This record gives sequence, structure tokens and C-alpha cells, in this order.
Amino acid sequence: MPEVDDFFRLKEYDSLGREAMVAKSAMDEELARLKRREAELAERRELLATREAEVRAMNHKMAELDRLLTQRLAPEAISKLEEEGLEILVRQQELEILIEEDRTFLAGFSATIEDIRRDIDNKLSELRLKEKVALDRQKALIPDLPEGWLVSYQKIAAKNPAHGVFSRIQSQQCQFCRFAVSKSVESEVDTQYQLKACSSCGRLFLPYKAVAG
Ligand SMILES: [Zn+2]
Repeated sequence: MPEVDDFFRLKEYDSLGREAMVAKSAMDEELARLKRREAELAERRELLATREAEVRAMNHKMAELDRLLTQRLAPEAISKLEEEGLEILVRQQELEILIEEDRTFLAGFSATIEDIRRDIDNKLSELRLKEKVALDRQKALIPDLPEGWLVSYQKIAAKNPAHGVFSRIQSQQCQFCRFAVSKSVESEVDTQYQLKACSSCGRLFLPYKAVAG
């Protein structure tokens, strides 16, 4: 015969499962955070490489202009080349400033990301331990649950219903969804401590004695 303590065990089982789930999603969040920062770093490195490539292309262009200017050219052609050279110089100066900024940023950021990685690694092992402890404690409760309870629990838990898997009977209704509950079911739950699910929302009814705890 099930007893009221079985319901406390089932509630404990449920809250441990929730704890493990919270730890798991915190781990996912930490990993996503690391990924975002790494993407930021990669993006800036790529930007720097693009700017450096542009500087190299401009150096070639300048050499080419210098070579052309040593030839005999019409005055209009010379001033056109000189104008072009001036534009290149202006852009090169802009790029040098940007590249300097990129390098400063990357130097600082590389150090930062090492800290972030270390920090995240620490958090992850903490969370992993939390998850493991919760899951182990959960597992240890299984042999003490009445037969069939785990299956009933898992059926509703798999749906991960909002506000949890438990409900109670109040004025012959499911407290959660207001679906009618017969007097006999009410007494099976409250006096015989049977595990019954609401026929409408599927939540498991806690006997009133197990609600307070
Ligand atoms: Zn219900």
C-alpha cells in the first residue's frame, strides 16, 4: 500500500529532476556565452586581415604609380597620377589607424578571452557536479517509489507542463485545469494514497496531506 511519504519522495524526485535541468540549461548558456565571445574575436581578426591585405594592395599600387611617374608623360597624365597617389596615401593613413586599433583590441581581448574561458570552465565543472549530484539522488529514490509511479511520472514530465507536473483536487475539480474529479478518485488519492492523473491536463494529484510539505 502506498503511503503519504511516497508522495514526498515523488515530489523530491521531481524537484531533483528540475535542479538537474536548471544546471543543464545554465551549462548551455555558459557555452553559448563562450561561443559568442570567440565569434567576436574571430570577426575582429578577420577584419584586421582584410585591412592588412588592403594596405599591401595599396603599397603595390603606389609602387606602380611611382614607376609610371618616372616615364615621360603629358602634364595632365602626371597630375592625374599624383591625385591618385594622394588618395591612396589618405586611405593608407586611415587604414593604419584602424589597424592599430584592431591590434590593440585583439591584444586586450585575447587576454580577456583566456579569463573568460577559465571562468566558464570553472562554472561548467561546478554545474556538471550539481547536475550529477541531483541525478544520482534522483536515481537513489527510484527503488523506494511504488510500482508504476515512475512511469506515470515520466509520462507527464516528458510533456514538461507549465507550472509543474502536480495538481490537487479541490471541490472535486483539478485545481489546475478545473476538470471534474469524481468523489471516488478523490478518496483514492486522499485516503488510499494512490497516484492518479487528471484525465484532462494529465497532472498528478497530490493528496492534501502531501501538499503542505
Ligand atoms: Zn487537470
